[in-house]
Amino acid sequence: MKKVLSGIQPSGKLTLGNYIGALKNFVTLQDDYSCNFMVVDLHAITVPQDPANLREQSEAVAALFVAAGIDPNKSNVYMQSHVRQHAQLGWILTTLTSMGELERMTQFKDKAAGKESVGAGLFVYPSLMAADILVYNADLVPVGEDQKQHLELTRDLAGRFNSRFGEYFTLPDPYIPKVGARIMSLDDASKKMSKSNPNPGSYIALLDTPDEIRKKISRATTDSGREVRFDTEAKPEVSNLITIYSQCSGLSVAEVEQKYEGQMYGPFKKDLAEVVVSVLEPLQQRYHEIRNSGEIHDILRQGALRANEEAEKVLQDVQRMMGFLL
Ligand code: ATP
Ligand code: MG
Repeated sequence: MKKVLSGIQPSGKLTLGNYIGALKNFVTLQDDYSCNFMVVDLHAITVPQDPANLREQSEAVAALFVAAGIDPNKSNVYMQSHVRQHAQLGWILTTLTSMGELERMTQFKDKAAGKESVGAGLFVYPSLMAADILVYNADLVPVGEDQKQHLELTRDLAGRFNSRFGEYFTLPDPYIPKVGARIMSLDDASKKMSKSNPNPGSYIALLDTPDEIRKKISRATTDSGREVRFDTEAKPEVSNLITIYSQCSGLSVAEVEQKYEGQMYGPFKKDLAEVVVSVLEPLQQRYHEIRNSGEIHDILRQGALRANEEAEKVLQDVQRMMGFLL
């Protein structure tokens, strides 16, 4: 069976962007692939995290994976830090990565912009992400569009290892949805929606209450026009809302446009809020059941045990091929 690997950082509250771009696709892939889904805490600490928040967010992200429909009996759900081989292979791959490659990463440039001091972890994090994928020899990586460049680096590193030490790694393919791969911020359609954005009005969190969701969508910026029309160049804000509508309702973009032909933004936004609420309400209910039952700790332990076995084999092979004494 082919392998899937992906992860989400416990760096804030999961957003609708994370759901549409990544999590939703994790759920559909689990029937056809052997899947590992991680809460990537080692990535989250590449920017400062408050310990109590990190602990809470880690548990929340893991519970949201399950609430969204990931079945822990089919897929491994675990904390990245519980499988230590990630960090070990991460170091090894860092030694195969050039500074120039890391300097070209647009996510690094975005996240470092305007900061007085930037941690070295933020710079080398793409090598750790490559290790996350390669330590299982994964075939497919479901991610949003912003991760495409990191996936390309992963393929380059896999190829570099293969040509220096012998054919071993599979070159993984990204799995990026055609619609919804880059959900934009509600307050600024030139930036992607991000859970680490300090303005909560810029994103819809998966755990926002129905009233918060309605308020955020009614305040989302639009343009001074009137047409509910998809045109990312001329109408980026409205196009983003149409994309969210389409992804949460199952209607195509064209069907959404048709439905609101001749209508103003008001009724469109009102309906959009209800469409989003109808997707998130059942997910929230399952989330609270999972948190209250305390089952997430067992799920994470089991997931890590299974992932550990897979990862150890690859790490040992890699070390042997590179000339480490074992
Ligand atoms: P941070 O701001 O801390 O980087 P994030 O919201 O970007 O948080 P990540 O944990 O970095 O979330 O990414 C988790 C997954 O969600 C990745 O596959 C990423 O590509 C995807 N993703 C993140 N933001 C979006 C978005 N706005 N639209 C679609 N997919 C997204
Ligand atoms: Mg991110």
